[in-house]
Amino acid sequence: MSEVFTGSFTQQEPIPEAGIEAALEVLRHGRLHRYNTAPGEIGETALLEQEFAALSGARYCLAVASGGYAMATALRAAGVGPGDPVLTNAFTLAPVPGAIAALGARPVFIGVTDRLTIDLDDLAARAGQAGVLLLSHMRGHICDMDRLMEICDAAGVRVIEDCAHTMGAAWNGVFSGRHGIVACYSTQTYKHANSGEGGLLITDDADLAARAVILSGSYMLYGRHLAAPPPEAFERVKYVTPNISGRMDNLRAAILRPQLGMLETQVERWNARYRVLEDGLRDTPGLAVIERPEAERFVGSSIQFLLPDWKADRVREVVARCAARGVELKWFGAPEPAGFTSRYDSWHYAAPAPMPSSDRVLAGILDMRVPLTFSREDCALIARIIRAEVSVAWQTGAR
Ligand SMILES: *Cc1c(COP(=O)(O)O)cnc(C)c1O
Repeated sequence: MSEVFTGSFTQQEPIPEAGIEAALEVLRHGRLHRYNTAPGEIGETALLEQEFAALSGARYCLAVASGGYAMATALRAAGVGPGDPVLTNAFTLAPVPGAIAALGARPVFIGVTDRLTIDLDDLAARAGQAGVLLLSHMRGHICDMDRLMEICDAAGVRVIEDCAHTMGAAWNGVFSGRHGIVACYSTQTYKHANSGEGGLLITDDADLAARAVILSGSYMLYGRHLAAPPPEAFERVKYVTPNISGRMDNLRAAILRPQLGMLETQVERWNARYRVLEDGLRDTPGLAVIERPEAERFVGSSIQFLLPDWKADRVREVVARCAARGVELKWFGAPEPAGFTSRYDSWHYAAPAPMPSSDRVLAGILDMRVPLTFSREDCALIARIIRAEVSVAWQTGAR
C-alpha cells in the first residue's frame, strides 16, 4: 500500500486566544469602526499600525481592507494615474496587475528567472518604460534587492513592494518592504497573519502617508492615527485627495495584534517545515529545488519546485498522481487559470506581449502551501509522495 496524506492544505491554525479575547472585547463594546472611540480611548486599528511600524522600522503605517487595496492606494498616493505604464512581475498573483488596472493604469510585465524572481536583466533593459515598479516578492522569493535598487535608482523608477508573502522576511538583514518608497502586506487568511481579509501599508514618506490615509477614508479624523505624519502633511493634501473607502476595522485589528507579536516564532516554525520538504525533494531526478540565496531570509509558508522542460502531459500526470495521494500541487503552466495560479497571459485586459523565456519557467513551476497545521512528519510524508510520483513520471519519459 502506498502512503497517503490526509491533512488539509487550506487549514490554518486557530486565532490565538489573546486575539479571540481582544475580538470579543471589541464585539462587547460595539465600537468596530476605527474612528469610533470612547473619550481617551485608542482604537485597536491605530495600535496595530503603531505596532507594525515599530516591527518594520517604518515611520508610518496604515491598515486597510486588503492587500490589493493597499497596493492600489500606494500607487495612487505615489501619483500613478490613468494610462500610466507600471512595471510589474510576469510571475505574480492576479491582485497585483489588478491593483494597477484599478487605477486605469497599464501593467508592463517583466520576466521571471528560474529562481522565481524578477529578471533583473529584463528590468534593466526596460526600466526606462515607466516611472514606477510594483515589485511582487511572489511566493516569498526575494531577488537581489541591492542590484534591483541600483537599476531602479539609475533609471529614476520608484519601487513599491508587494510583500504579501514576505512579511517577516529580509534581504541582507533589511526587513522586506524597506527598500522601496512604500510596501504593502496582506493579512488575508493564507498569508503570514490572518484576519480573513486585511492589508498594511508602510512608508517613510510623509506626503505619501498622508495621501494614503485620506484615500483610505479618514473623514478628516487623521488626528486619531498614531503612525501617521503630523497635521501639516495633511494640510497639503487634504483638499486634493479623494476618499476611496477601504479602512480596516477594530475587530480585525484586534485579531491581528497578538499575531504580529508571534511573527518571529511563526517564521521559525514555517522554515522548519520548509527545510524538511526541501531536504526530502532534493536530488530527485528530473526535479529542481529552488536554491535560496544566503542573503535571503525567507518565510517558508509555501514551497515551489521546478520540473524543467517536462512535457505538459507528464506534469499533469504528476499533479494528478500526487492529488490521488492527498498532496495538492498547483501548476503555473496550465493554459487556463485555476485557483491561485493565474499567469500573465491570462490577464487579457493588460494586453501582455508573449514572453517565451518566462513561459518556459512558468511551464515547470509546481507550488504547494505549507500551513502551520502540518507537522514536520507530515512534511516528510508529503516529500516522499512527491518524490515517488515525480520519479515514476520521470522514468516513463517526462521529456
Ligand atoms: C494575496 C496576495 C496579495 C494581496 O491579496 P489580497 O487578497 O488582496 O489581500 C498580493 N500579492 C500577492 C502575490 C498575493 O499572493
